[in-house]
Amino acid sequence: MQTWQPVPVPAVPGTPRPLRLYDTASQEIRPTAPGRTATMYVCGITPYDATHLGHAATYLAFDLVHRLWLDNGHEVHYVQNVTDVDDPLLERAARDQSDWVVLAMRETALFREDMEALRILPPRDYIGAVEAVPEITEVIAKLIASGVAYRAADDTYPDVYYDHAATQWFGSESNYDEPTMRTLFAERGGDPDRPGKRHPLDPLLWRMARPGEPSWDSELGPGRPGWHVECSVIALNRLGMGFDVQGGGSDLIFPHHEFSAAHAEALTGQHPFARHYVHAGMIGLHGEKMSKSRGNLVFVSKLRGDGECGGVDPMALRLALLSGHYRTDREWTPDVLAAATAQLAAWRSALTRPAGPPATDTVARLRTHLSDDLDTPKALLAVDAWVREAGTGRGRDADAPGLLRAAVDALLGIEL
Ligand code: ZN
Repeated sequence: MQTWQPVPVPAVPGTPRPLRLYDTASQEIRPTAPGRTATMYVCGITPYDATHLGHAATYLAFDLVHRLWLDNGHEVHYVQNVTDVDDPLLERAARDQSDWVVLAMRETALFREDMEALRILPPRDYIGAVEAVPEITEVIAKLIASGVAYRAADDTYPDVYYDHAATQWFGSESNYDEPTMRTLFAERGGDPDRPGKRHPLDPLLWRMARPGEPSWDSELGPGRPGWHVECSVIALNRLGMGFDVQGGGSDLIFPHHEFSAAHAEALTGQHPFARHYVHAGMIGLHGEKMSKSRGNLVFVSKLRGDGECGGVDPMALRLALLSGHYRTDREWTPDVLAAATAQLAAWRSALTRPAGPPATDTVARLRTHLSDDLDTPKALLAVDAWVREAGTGRGRDADAPGLLRAAVDALLGIEL
């Protein structure tokens, strides 16, 4: 699938710092340890609606991972999927009496525009579920052959399910106990009560064709893939086992990431699927998580457009989302955006001066804070401190504004 346009990333003088990130599986902040090429998979959208601020915050967090690795001299092999066939997409298309393919194409195009506007570096491989169907069915057939997947006891629709407890590593990503898993499985698209399954937690691998639903012919019979195996296969076939970072929002910890890992681990007999599982917090509005079901979404395209919200500078949006730590659930309010807009104006104004206070230490502090589990609140304070000092007019370093501009661009992705 076509990805989106990259922006240039300037080189920043000084000494890069290796990136440390919180890993959900080991429940600690650990150094990432990529080889020459760092590898990352971040779960993509299901394109039935526009990009909201919760999505943007998640992709922005992993954009910083990407940028920190580039700063450390790594190439980055970044893979992202698009779940361009799944129940929510089909339900929305049916509700709106539109073609699900057209809906997916339209929303994916808008997502690309939003990502470009926010200056999020594109993945190298941007892969749709539909285009990956042949590789997914091949893996499901192998899982059946090895006895870890089975057909539901259902003569009409013998869907394929995965035995959730097939490996000894199940649960090691989320660290959740079984009651928590059962609750989250039911809440997040699972089908615990589906008759014919061997265990309520077993996830769907292949859904046999129902009347009126899209399906693909395969050795499994006509049908379509489940969501977890989609990501598992797309990541595995491009990055291999033990890639550096598996990313997404914290609502993907279970069942999605647990089962994506479990499928690949059952298939290969190797562990772990990813060396870090990294999860971004949720963005809330009026005290509730931003979500489709609550109808409280704030769309990126609406904010940056000329509509009633009035054309917000995407860099202010980016700065606003970076003002909180990526792992904390946080509230979106008009004040957050207003503060970021004023901050952006102050930064830009300071950089119009021909000289400023030396910026080498500021750049070093930026690197220190960002490499420490992406501590953006402290990183922004470091820039604020330089800007305040520049405002006194006493700085004489003619190279400083250019150095800071390059560092803020390369490391924070903000064009000043
Ligand atoms: Zn995924």
